[in-house]
Amino acid sequence: MVTTVSPITSIVENIGGTRIDLEGVVPEGVNSHTFEPAPSVATLLSRADLVVLNGLFLEEPTLEMARANMKSGAVILSLGDGTISREDWMFDFSFPESDGHPNPHLWPDPILALKYAELVKDALSSADPENAEYYGENLDKFGQRIQELDEKIRIAVSTVPPENRKLLTYHDSWAYFAKRYGMEVVGAAQPSDFAEPSSREVARLIDQVREARIPAIFGSEVFPSDVLETIANESGAEYVDQLRDDDLPGGPGDPRHSYLGLMLQNLEIMVSSLGGDASALEGFDPGPVFEGTSEAEYPQ
Ligand SMILES: [Zn+2]
Repeated sequence: MVTTVSPITSIVENIGGTRIDLEGVVPEGVNSHTFEPAPSVATLLSRADLVVLNGLFLEEPTLEMARANMKSGAVILSLGDGTISREDWMFDFSFPESDGHPNPHLWPDPILALKYAELVKDALSSADPENAEYYGENLDKFGQRIQELDEKIRIAVSTVPPENRKLLTYHDSWAYFAKRYGMEVVGAAQPSDFAEPSSREVARLIDQVREARIPAIFGSEVFPSDVLETIANESGAEYVDQLRDDDLPGGPGDPRHSYLGLMLQNLEIMVSSLGGDASALEGFDPGPVFEGTSEAEYPQ
């Protein structure tokens, strides 16, 4: 199996456990939206039985390479396209409707991530019917973990003063999350071409943060941003540069180096920065749901 970004690799790992051979191709810490796979990835794709992508136009060069190199009978599973229909596509700051490409970040919404996991379980079960029961058991366990996470996020977000339930981020990855949990994405600084925002846009964002009295604005590990720091300094908001959308916390082998760990850590940071109490998230286990150690490879 070949996957693209690390949160997807982690979801596939949770369902496939020790019974699949899994390799991610998008290294952590790179911009997945502009990622061009090295020619060596073609060899990897040519051997795969199943290639799992987010889709929704996130990994077009990898998708093209997969189509050109995969063996006959191999399957491409596009999770985002299988999870929501066109009517549910969200367009916003960095993904304007005029470009025709929806915001592809479904996975920060754990309920949509569970849908990803269901699609993965179905694909693994038809590729490898002998282990279908195992994949089904892992999906059940993953589903329980997601329900627990969803409940904990709801409690944690409810402690954030309602007027602070606003997100201004550099990278525009919280649209579906915000919709699920009653938060508002008031802006994203990164333009749709992934260049830096114009000085006029920066001035507009400063005014917006001041007017909305947002206590904190968020950058990410992958996109450190001087611009966001300027906006914070000028508006009086705190600049928190540690959210992640596809760069998992810690390193391979750490329990938090997982999709569940990514969400746990993001919520701890987000809720406490916005004046809430993140203690509902304590005790949540972000580690693998299966027994044993998988051989999943996360490129660094
Ligand atoms: Zn992204």
